[in-house]
Amino acid sequence: MKDHKGRLLRGSIAGDQFRLFAADTTSIVQEARDIHDIYPLSTILMGRMISAVALMSGELKAPRAQVSIRVDAEGPLKGGIVIANKEGNLKGYAFQPQLWLPDIQDNLLVGKHLGKGTLSVIRQSGMKAPYTGRVELVDGEIGSDLAAFYERSEQTASAVNLGVLIDQDARVRAAGGFLIQQLPQADPELARIITDNLALTPNISDLMDMGLSLEEILNRFILKNLEWKINKETSLSYLCDCSRERFARGLLLLGKAELETMREGIDPVCHYCNNTYHFSEEDIQDLITSWEDHNEKI
Ligand SMILES: [Zn+2]
Repeated sequence: MKDHKGRLLRGSIAGDQFRLFAADTTSIVQEARDIHDIYPLSTILMGRMISAVALMSGELKAPRAQVSIRVDAEGPLKGGIVIANKEGNLKGYAFQPQLWLPDIQDNLLVGKHLGKGTLSVIRQSGMKAPYTGRVELVDGEIGSDLAAFYERSEQTASAVNLGVLIDQDARVRAAGGFLIQQLPQADPELARIITDNLALTPNISDLMDMGLSLEEILNRFILKNLEWKINKETSLSYLCDCSRERFARGLLLLGKAELETMREGIDPVCHYCNNTYHFSEEDIQDLITSWEDHNEKI
């Protein structure tokens, strides 16, 4: 792997006719793979979802805002969830991390093994109630599913291009993506040029693996001969914000009857980072006591 720092670029094309987002997520996909020990098929799925949600995080405005993508499918790959916040911190997990299919080629075909299903986008912004939009999977390759979400759920014409390249030993060589949104005032002729450019652009993870930066891929392929600029750059990291206190609050929410069943202590594991939190017999008793104290007051 070359020196791939997780980065998200936000920019504009032809004045403000199109919004542009570009992300290099190689290091984040590698970290997700290492934390969860996921096999190639789920690594590709997670890699595309990580890139998609990283791109979408570029639209977040409120300080504590976050966006999630969730795929729920009927096929053996099942799906996964990835969350990003405005600060560029991402976390996620695959529902079927260690799926392995006997035909080696099958282990690259994400859409085929997701089958029918949905892609949901959940946006949370500070104190406001979360917004959820959902579309049926178009082909389960995530890029076209996300474009369908923007088209149907948000009435925004968008082009999405995602790529993940892995080694035979599941090392992530390159991962990233581009999202271009057409704004109402955009010249349709420019939209056509971008569409044509995208059709002629080789696989972006192959280009990244050859050593091309996001800017070079934009210049030489996707936005060839167009005027564009980057307005902001954010670094991206795989970071889980779980804590013992968070798990304790979650346990309290389960209520007394449920806590009673955990009398001997429990060791919950965080789905996102695999950290284990130990709650002993005494800890559970303390939680039951504080649940009782709280509920007596009400
Ligand atoms: Zn965690």
